[in-house]
Amino acid sequence: MSRRRRIVLKFGGTSIGNAERIKDVAKSVAEAAKENQVIVVASAMNGITDTLIRMSDLAKSCHLDKLRSELEKLRERHLQVVEDSISNPKIRSEVRKTVEERINALEKVLEGISILGEMTPRSKDRVISFGEQISAPIVSGAITDLGLKTKHFTGGEAGIVTDDEFGEANPLMNITKMKTGKTLEPLLNEGVIPVVSGFIAATQTGEITTLGRGGSDYTGTILGAALSADDIWICTDVNGMMTADPKIVPDARTIPRLSYAEALEMTVFGAKALHARSLEPVMEYNRPLWVKNTFDLKHPGTLITRDQNVADGEVAKSVALIRDVAMINIGGASMVGKPGIAARIFQILGQNSINILMISQSVSEANISMVLRRSHLEKAVSALEISLLGKGFANQVNAEDDVAVVAIVGAGMKGAPGVAARVFKAVADRGINVRMIAQGSSELNISFVVKEEECEEAVRALHKEFKLNQAP
Ligand code: ASP
Ligand code: MG
Repeated sequence: MSRRRRIVLKFGGTSIGNAERIKDVAKSVAEAAKENQVIVVASAMNGITDTLIRMSDLAKSCHLDKLRSELEKLRERHLQVVEDSISNPKIRSEVRKTVEERINALEKVLEGISILGEMTPRSKDRVISFGEQISAPIVSGAITDLGLKTKHFTGGEAGIVTDDEFGEANPLMNITKMKTGKTLEPLLNEGVIPVVSGFIAATQTGEITTLGRGGSDYTGTILGAALSADDIWICTDVNGMMTADPKIVPDARTIPRLSYAEALEMTVFGAKALHARSLEPVMEYNRPLWVKNTFDLKHPGTLITRDQNVADGEVAKSVALIRDVAMINIGGASMVGKPGIAARIFQILGQNSINILMISQSVSEANISMVLRRSHLEKAVSALEISLLGKGFANQVNAEDDVAVVAIVGAGMKGAPGVAARVFKAVADRGINVRMIAQGSSELNISFVVKEEECEEAVRALHKEFKLNQAP
C-alpha cells in the first residue's frame, strides 16, 4: 500500500499570535490531517524573539528590574494563551507545566548571563531559542484538544543537526535525514502529528543553535527535504509572494508560480514572505514549496518549483525594493589601469565583516561604486579612507546614505533584448535619476540605485511598465 501524502505546515509568529489564532491553526491542521500525514513547524509567537534579544541585552548589562518585568510579561502572555486556547483541563495543565518549566529555565540562563556580565553567541542562541521552545507545546496542545494525536519536539529533539555557527547555523543534511527518520517517521506512520519548534536546532554534541532570523521557514524546508514531504507549506500572513509590496503598489498581485532561482532572487532582494536560505534544501531535494496565507488557506498562494514557468512574452515577475542601504563611490585618476584595486577594496571590507549588496565599475575605471547596508556605512568609509587615501590608490571616497535599491526580477529577462531600455525609460519618464546600475550574470534581475525619496515612484513605474497587475 502506498503511503498517504505527507505535508509540512509551517506557521509564522503572526499566525499563532494569540489564542484565537492558535485555535484556528489547530483546526486547519486537523483539516489537513484528514487526508495527509502532517508535520507542523511553529515559530515563536510574534514579537517574542525580539523580546528575548532585548532581554539578553538587559541581562548582560545587569538591568535586572527591567529584565524581571519583561520576563513577567512574557510569562503572563504565554500562560494566558494556554488558558484560552486549550479547553480540556488535563491537556491544559500538562502544557501549562511544560511552559512554566521552560520559562523557569530561561530565567536561569538569563541569571547566568547577568552574573557573568557576558554573552557569547552560544549563550545568546540559548536565550532566543525559548520563543519556539515555548510555542510548540502550546500549538501541540491546541491540536490535541481537537482529539488528534500529537507530540512536540524542539528542533534538536526532532533530529535537526547543525554545525556550531551559532546565530546562523547550517544544517548537516545527511545526519538530519537519518535522525529525523528515526524520531518522526514512525510517528507519522502511526498517525501522530509531530509539532516541531522552528528556528532552533542542535550541534552534534547537543548544544542549541539557531538558523538565523526568520529561520522557522528553514526548519520547514529542512524537515520537508529530510522526510521527503510531498508538499511544504509556508503559512504566513500574506497571499504568497507578490509582484510588489502592496503598501506601495495597491494593485500588486500574488505570483502563482516561481522557479527556485526566481524565488531566491526575490528573497535576496528583501521579499519578506520567505527566508532566503530556506530554499536550499528544497532546491537540493527538489520538493515543491508553497507560500500561503494562514488566514485564507483556500487561496492558492505561490507555488515554487524547479520549473521555469515563463509565460509567452512575460519578462518580469516582480519589483523589489531594498531600503536602509547606502552607496559608496571610490574614484580618482590614480585608479585607471591599476590592477588589484577592486581586490583591495573588497578585502578591506571583508576584513571588517561588511557585506556588499551591489557593485559596479565605470568603463573608464576611474570609479567603483558599491551598495551596502546603511548600518555598515560609517565603519566602511573609515576603513576605506584609512587604507586607500594618500597611498596612490584613490583620491576620493564619497558616501550617500539617502538611497534605495530597486530590482526587477524574472526568468523571462534572460536573453530578452531591450528589457534594460524599458526599465530605464519607464523610470526616466517619471523624472527619476538612476545613480548606479547592476545586472547579475544570472540575468534574473536588473537592479539600480535611486534617491530614497523617489524609490516608491520607481517601483510603481516598473510595475506599470511590465503590466504586473495583470496575469501574463
Ligand atoms: N522566531 C524567529 C524570528 O523571529 C524565527 C521565525 O519566526 O521564523 O526570527
Ligand atoms: Mg518569517
